[in-house]
Amino acid sequence: MGAELEFLAAVAADRAEGVLRGLPRSAGHGDSLTRAIRVTAEQLKSRASTIVTGGPYLPALERVHARDLQRLASEANVLHQLLSAYAGDVGRTDVPVGLLYLIDELIRDLLPSGADPILHLDSSNMYSTFPVFERAPHILNPAAHPEPHPVVFNVPGLEPANALLSPILAHEVGHTCWRRTVGRDLRARLDLVAIQAALQIGVSAGANPKELGTLFDSWLVELMCDGLAATLTGPAFLFASTVFLPAAGEAGIGSHPYPLDRLAFTLQILDRYGWTSVLGGLVPTTFDWCVQSAANPHLAGDPRETALRAAMAIAQPAMIELAEEIAVNRLRAEDFERHKNDLFSYLDLGIPPSAPSGDDFTAWLLVASSWLHEIRIRGDGGPANLPAIASDPTLNRFLLKSVELSGIARLWRTHGTSAP
Ligand SMILES: [Zn+2]
Repeated sequence: MGAELEFLAAVAADRAEGVLRGLPRSAGHGDSLTRAIRVTAEQLKSRASTIVTGGPYLPALERVHARDLQRLASEANVLHQLLSAYAGDVGRTDVPVGLLYLIDELIRDLLPSGADPILHLDSSNMYSTFPVFERAPHILNPAAHPEPHPVVFNVPGLEPANALLSPILAHEVGHTCWRRTVGRDLRARLDLVAIQAALQIGVSAGANPKELGTLFDSWLVELMCDGLAATLTGPAFLFASTVFLPAAGEAGIGSHPYPLDRLAFTLQILDRYGWTSVLGGLVPTTFDWCVQSAANPHLAGDPRETALRAAMAIAQPAMIELAEEIAVNRLRAEDFERHKNDLFSYLDLGIPPSAPSGDDFTAWLLVASSWLHEIRIRGDGGPANLPAIASDPTLNRFLLKSVELSGIARLWRTHGTSAP
């Protein structure tokens, strides 16, 4: 055996060993990542050892073996990178339990095959999700590891536990839904002939067909994710997205549809589930501003804009239908109306709402109720009040405590009723 191969094998094994030493000791959310990295690093070590000891030394294969060993070392580096990014997030206990309940509920609702959430505080003021194995599928092959698979939830680092903006997470989980099944299912339902015709009008007016196709693909995903979030979380998504997008100001053509068109789509979905009259009655100033703004988007007259908006209008009915099939535990106005008096009485008293009757107060019912209650007690002064409500630390802490207590009550009812 050549000394060079032995040396390269030692380097690869040492890097894999370094990864194993760095595995987190804490358990909880994110365990699936720890297990997958442990198994992969162990395999990597044994592959390095097999290359140098597994057969007779053949000088002709020396270069092939050297390349294999170098590849193993770089695979260990990828594991190192993933581990150093997320090891601190495994089993984390420094965020409110209510936030973890909320994310668990989101996964139950939108990802029926499950996910192991890793809550990561991101440096950007953004929400996003990504399935970790997809970052390096050639090393962490999803098919080789048992489900549920880890999904990273990136939340704004300075404000990780913002429950009032958490409906944005529903949109982000929508992206994972899209990669799993929704993208394929939606495309199968689209009237592609009509959509192509709409896009062709843009091309005839001078739009670049390749760019237009890319923008269409991107807008389709984003609007579908809005559809899932609005269907599932009701007016909580309306208010959260109004603040987070934000739904005002100038918009340029980019990867996302115009904020005001997104707002209009959300309003269309809310109307389908009975919210228009409820919101118009409870928070008329804020709601009317949303309706009026959505009806008057600032348009530039760009041929891409005209074509993409027409194509989205054709795609919307299929999106609404598909979102309805997926988000079966959606928040409807009648669910809110049934509990409104109880919920608002608790909130007036500053007591986390609970449902003694055995009905469930889901996280989204609590989030939507908090938004509506707070807008009302601040006098329904229009959109300028919404950002301060969204970032109110006391309100967010209270809301997450409510989600936690409601989750505990649900667990108690489901599992804790058999007396010894
Ligand atoms: Zn998105």
